[in-house]
Amino acid sequence: MARRPCFFSFLRLCPLILFARFSVINGDPNLTPPSFAPINHDLYHTSGALMEEIEALVDRHPDKLSMETVKSRNKGYTAEITVVTYGRKRKESDDRSKFRILLSFGQHGRELITTELAFRILSILSEEQFLPKMDQAMLNSTFEELVIKVVPVENMNGRKLVEAGDLCERRNGRGVDLNRNWSVDWGKKEQDYDPYEENPGTAPFSEPEAQLMRKLSLSFQPHIWVNVHSGMEALFMPYDHKNTTPDGLLSHRMRSMLEELNHLHCEDRCMVGSGGGSVGYLAHGTATDYMFDIVGVPMAFTFEIYGDGTASSKDCFKMFNPIDVTNFNRVLNSWSAAFISMFNMGAHQLDELHPKASLSKLDKLVSTDDYLNGYLMERSSRYGKKMEMLELGMQEIRTYFRLFLLSSVLLMFMFCSRISKSSRPIVSTLSL
Ligand SMILES: [Zn+2]
Repeated sequence: MARRPCFFSFLRLCPLILFARFSVINGDPNLTPPSFAPINHDLYHTSGALMEEIEALVDRHPDKLSMETVKSRNKGYTAEITVVTYGRKRKESDDRSKFRILLSFGQHGRELITTELAFRILSILSEEQFLPKMDQAMLNSTFEELVIKVVPVENMNGRKLVEAGDLCERRNGRGVDLNRNWSVDWGKKEQDYDPYEENPGTAPFSEPEAQLMRKLSLSFQPHIWVNVHSGMEALFMPYDHKNTTPDGLLSHRMRSMLEELNHLHCEDRCMVGSGGGSVGYLAHGTATDYMFDIVGVPMAFTFEIYGDGTASSKDCFKMFNPIDVTNFNRVLNSWSAAFISMFNMGAHQLDELHPKASLSKLDKLVSTDDYLNGYLMERSSRYGKKMEMLELGMQEIRTYFRLFLLSSVLLMFMFCSRISKSSRPIVSTLSL
């Protein structure tokens, strides 16, 4: 059976895991716990060291790189996301005329290899590392047309849980899958739904990480979005929530680009097609479906950069990350080359691709929480920092809104019961 990509849920299938955990907890002396691969610290940075390295890289290349950290809080849960922006001779005002690319890594805590790839790509963009066979002069002219925003670790809280020993954790710091928390087809559960893997949260955008990414995508309006994961080798395009690809020219363009990348950099091994259709399982409320359908990103992708199909499903570090230096380097080399190729292909399509946010769809948000988040964030991006205070007070405003709704219902109830009392004698008079 085909391995599920990480944005689906391979652990759903495994009552065996629960059995194994139960047995270990109960100390069955006959059951020798199998040894699972630990994080290989000779190859992998800790999240703290990685962020320090990235900060130092940005400091060394102020002409090409800049970074900012954004923070959001919800019900006592705080999340922070660092965004690194690449752009040569860049002024903020130039962003509208350039080709814009938004990349997210580390949305799932256990997929450490993805954040290593983010660091490698930033090192190449800053010209501290080079790819073999790369024509630097050609790339220099291409890269002047690009602005690339990189989120190296979207799910820092989940990543810290993994580093603390929970190697199978993919969700955020309070147990929500950040790739199920978006509003397109949110909350729909397949028959084998497992909350340990795919908990979508209490509402679309209930999670601060998803709110921050949504806000970033709406303000940046990228031409290309890539959500980078591991668990298998695949190049996915929309849709994740249904087993079809979109109609039309954009769909054709996306598929052509993915097929070319597969041929050039994945030795035609990678699965190419819609996330939902390629492996036969559907994922609801994913970031890529939202980017395509709502933000209007013309090329919205999910890349799965590595998976060990032979690993036991409990051996999560091994399943999602290369554990030896040869594979580690192979993955980083081939996928950083794939990304550079994609930047190059993208820059040549600047005049043909136009991001177009579907504002009518933005209004069709499915919950009060989401509506208010969306409304306030829209205003925030429109009026800039002056409106940041609104966001800080969002939680309170939601509470007041709920109280207002509740009191309105109570008033209506009291009003109706008074009318029915006062009208009773009239009815009885008439009936007499
Ligand atoms: Zn994943």
